[in-house]
Amino acid sequence: RVVVGTKVDQDHANWVTAYNMLTGIRFTVSRTNAKIDRELTDADFVARHKFSFDITGNELTPSAKYDFKFKDYAPWVFRHLRAIFKLDPADYLMSLTSKYILSELGSPGKSGSFFYFSRDYKYIIKTIHHAEHKFLRKILRDYYNHVRDNPNTLLSQFYGLHRVKIPYGRKIHFVVMNNLFPPHRDIHRTFDLKGSTIGRDFKEDELDKNPRATLKDLNWLRRSLHLEFGPTKKSAFIHQMERDVKLLQKLKIMDYSLLVGIHDLERGNEENLRDKTLQVFQPGGEQAEETPHNMLMRTPSKLENARKAKELRQLMWSQKPIPMDKSINKMPDDVQEGKKDFYFYSDDGGFRATHEDDSPGEEIYYLGIIDCLTYYSLIKRGEHFFKGLTNTESQISAIPPERYGDRFVKFISGITKTRERAEAEKLAESTN
Ligand code: ATP
Ligand code: CA
Ligand code: CA
Repeated sequence: RVVVGTKVDQDHANWVTAYNMLTGIRFTVSRTNAKIDRELTDADFVARHKFSFDITGNELTPSAKYDFKFKDYAPWVFRHLRAIFKLDPADYLMSLTSKYILSELGSPGKSGSFFYFSRDYKYIIKTIHHAEHKFLRKILRDYYNHVRDNPNTLLSQFYGLHRVKIPYGRKIHFVVMNNLFPPHRDIHRTFDLKGSTIGRDFKEDELDKNPRATLKDLNWLRRSLHLEFGPTKKSAFIHQMERDVKLLQKLKIMDYSLLVGIHDLERGNEENLRDKTLQVFQPGGEQAEETPHNMLMRTPSKLENARKAKELRQLMWSQKPIPMDKSINKMPDDVQEGKKDFYFYSDDGGFRATHEDDSPGEEIYYLGIIDCLTYYSLIKRGEHFFKGLTNTESQISAIPPERYGDRFVKFISGITKTRERAEAEKLAESTN
């Protein structure tokens, strides 16, 4: 299993799938956005709409390059979610569908899910299993209410839930969500933390080959790292995490992790912007290679802005596919406007470290709770039983959701402290 971020162009094996996903998103999202906003109803949470696309087009759907079926789930709920998360509706469509370009990360986890980035790196499309899909629909109301009451949630932000199917092909379910990592900042280290130690080690000697690998709990502990937040940020962070985890426990979810990307301000971004490559996240185990994406980091010129505006008009008014643009992708040089309003994403899209006196620290953390659609099902119970035979419960990851959540909160809270405090504690310990 090779994990690389590759551009999905017309020669790519998953080009048709990617094209169909984006065409479906573009059609259904514009369709919902075109209507006058209204309050949600009970029916909105269970709504689903099916569309058939073909090369000729029909009275309902525009013509597309390929024949496929597309299902749109709870469009009004997701429209409202996107509004709560302050996404600009036009921008959302632009990012995802103005050029039909995605970068595919392949399947980084064990689950077999595929990950795609929008061309500007703001959004992630993750294919999910049917069980996860059904589960998300089941918990949608709880998730919605939670997000509405906790706009600063650390949980994954879901922006859309859809399904594509080509004739004789299998059904592919997918969600659109936030990319926690910023397009304009190097992430120097990435960790996926669960608060468990069994199997939570990335082989350190593989790091040379794969410097951007996602590390795990044991790697974190080995480095004696901390989430360096002074009193104010620490209490806000832990408080929100507790509220989020409470929801996950109530919904019997487990196996989620805190994803942490660390940007070291002193190191900053690499000097040579021309050679800047897309920072693909490269989780777990396998050897992965970084691919150049020729993503130039620069401010768009007036001309480009004009072009963007024109494309946008085209996008809003025409149903014709916009021709493929093989030119270089631009990366945004700043974070989305809306993000600044969210506490944990307000320091350049992330959450800056602070000292004991709350003065700013040397790192920006990009963090959130990810992979939160695993229901504590029979399969997991089986794993619990099996693993339980050989390991003590504090070490295994497959424990019931209640305890999984408690252990998660305990671990993350335990590693949330400033450097000063950590040193003071160590000193006190050694003099005892
Ligand atoms: P598994 O179930 O085996 O853990 P999965 O296929 O469900 O895997 P995730 O755990 O959701 O995958 O994610 C795998 C990796 O992808 C994460 O460790 C992280 O590096 C990256 N990733 C996932 N979601 C995001 C996100 N929202 N922003 C940035 N990176 C992400
Ligand atoms: Ca995971
Ligand atoms: Ca998973």
